Amino acid sequence: MIFQPCSPTACFFTLAIVLAAPPSRAGPPVAIGTGGAVATVSEQASKAAMAILNKGGNAVDAAVAAAATLGVTDPFSCGIGGGGFMMIYLADGKRVITIDHRESAPAAFTPAVFLQNGKEIDFDLAVASGAAVGVPGTVRGWHDALERYGTMSFRQVLAPAIDVADKGFRVSENFNHLVAMNVDKFTLFPAISALYLKDGKALPAGTTLRNPGMAKAYRELAARGYKAFYDGPMARAMVDAVTRPPTAAGAAVRGGRMTMADLANYESRIRQPLHTTYRGFDIYGMPPPSSGGSTVAAALNILEGYELKAMARADVEHLYLEASRLSFADRNAYLGDPEYLDVPLAGLLSKEYAASRRTQIRSRQAMAAAAAPGDPYLFQNDPSVPLRPQPARAALRESAHTTHLTVSDRAGNVVSYTFTIESWGGSGITVPGYGFILNNEMTDFDFSGPHPNVPEAGKRPRSSMAPTIALKNGKPAFSIGSPGGSTIITTVLQTIVNHVDLGMPMDQAVNAPRLSQRNAGATDVEPGFAGSAQATALQRFGHQWAGAPEPIGAANALVFNADGTVTAVSEGKRHGVGTALVQRRGH
Ligand code: GLU
Repeated sequence: MIFQPCSPTACFFTLAIVLAAPPSRAGPPVAIGTGGAVATVSEQASKAAMAILNKGGNAVDAAVAAAATLGVTDPFSCGIGGGGFMMIYLADGKRVITIDHRESAPAAFTPAVFLQNGKEIDFDLAVASGAAVGVPGTVRGWHDALERYGTMSFRQVLAPAIDVADKGFRVSENFNHLVAMNVDKFTLFPAISALYLKDGKALPAGTTLRNPGMAKAYRELAARGYKAFYDGPMARAMVDAVTRPPTAAGAAVRGGRMTMADLANYESRIRQPLHTTYRGFDIYGMPPPSSGGSTVAAALNILEGYELKAMARADVEHLYLEASRLSFADRNAYLGDPEYLDVPLAGLLSKEYAASRRTQIRSRQAMAAAAAPGDPYLFQNDPSVPLRPQPARAALRESAHTTHLTVSDRAGNVVSYTFTIESWGGSGITVPGYGFILNNEMTDFDFSGPHPNVPEAGKRPRSSMAPTIALKNGKPAFSIGSPGGSTIITTVLQTIVNHVDLGMPMDQAVNAPRLSQRNAGATDVEPGFAGSAQATALQRFGHQWAGAPEPIGAANALVFNADGTVTAVSEGKRHGVGTALVQRRGH
């Protein structure tokens, strides 16, 4: 890493950035230093966070600035048309809080919304439809984060994103690839085609892309606050786009039933994080409606019963895969919106329950089939009526949709933030005149029940997002998170195991080949893994690899080192190349 020289006084507020090491085949971008730090998948977003930190903003201000910029440079994974989960460690008070700003189902939703003649409708048709669009929560989440825990206004933190939207940015190979993958969906909707297609094809890499509509949307937020989004012309434009999607001639797209009242009534939720302990760390995770925190925690609780440090890597990875399989069986059976069902969290997170699950695991012998869910109610210490397991459904294949970023500041605050519009390019419906894409988060519901995750009015669909912060001895130790649908959970879990149990520095932990076992027969692996020595060692235990390997996730992490420095780590090879930066203190 390169420390930029600066005078003691100049360093404090001026751009004192330690630039990420240039991406190389050797590993992911890493930056080490003092002061604040940031890791995101976008150079512009990481720079936006650093600019805000250098102006005296805190980690929350900087996280919103980075997120808004990602909405411009990574519009197919995130933006104000979607929702997410922000976890914040507040140095003052040593508290961890979370802001759930997941999209909610419009009031007109019923459990039959994705059924036709009693049958589930085609998934892709459901995705590219107004019915897939949930009431977006991102703007409300940013507002609540800034108002409660930030120090700056929308006008200040949105300025870098407005600048990028106005001046434009260079289309990368990865961006071009994502558009190319989605040409069919984008062609249905003129507003998105006008932005990202040229002559019916993906904009070539190297094109400078401006988004004046998104700059306008952000300017309205800067001027009027979150109400500019949930009421008034922008809200009206969203409702119109959802109810009567503006489509290309001849395209048949189902409308949704969102109303102005749905938008006006949207609220985020401040929730207590989930907590578990793991080998001396306090691990804080995202509670329901995300399944991220509880599934990671339950798997760690299972793994805690083994002396992993003394084992060979293949044995550790075997146990990681089996613990993940068992936790996914429970996740699929019990997790949903806690405002609509009693999720048996106390049972799922109890160490005794983990011990009972551990008895299912055999040494050096993979389970031949999907695991059955356990009975956490026996460990719940609560007389509520048990919701017995429903048949679990296989997790869908998901790649790296969504984005995760992480920021810290010199006061010691930390933000771990995952947000999304669900599939690549969400529903494809772009709000005319405002340049942002509406989510398809409602397809995260199971289309038919009975199931904890069936669609209902006002409900938030079960998520897998897993922004995580770990403390040790009461102080931040690391933060980690990733995109990737249900593979988010395995990426976060595996990275923790790599770092804590296999002793890898965080850059190696992030870079290592990812294996994702989500209670299916075969495990998803990344390209190049099958055939490796590591794969062969695991195959001896009966593990099998699913076909069509794809990169899994795109993690970003911070590590707070014992000497007071912070290490920011991004991805060197997945979803393009990320950017890790640190700010140096002025002495
Ligand atoms: N909708 C997904 C979730 O909430 C995130 C989108 C994705 O990463 O595929 O878990």
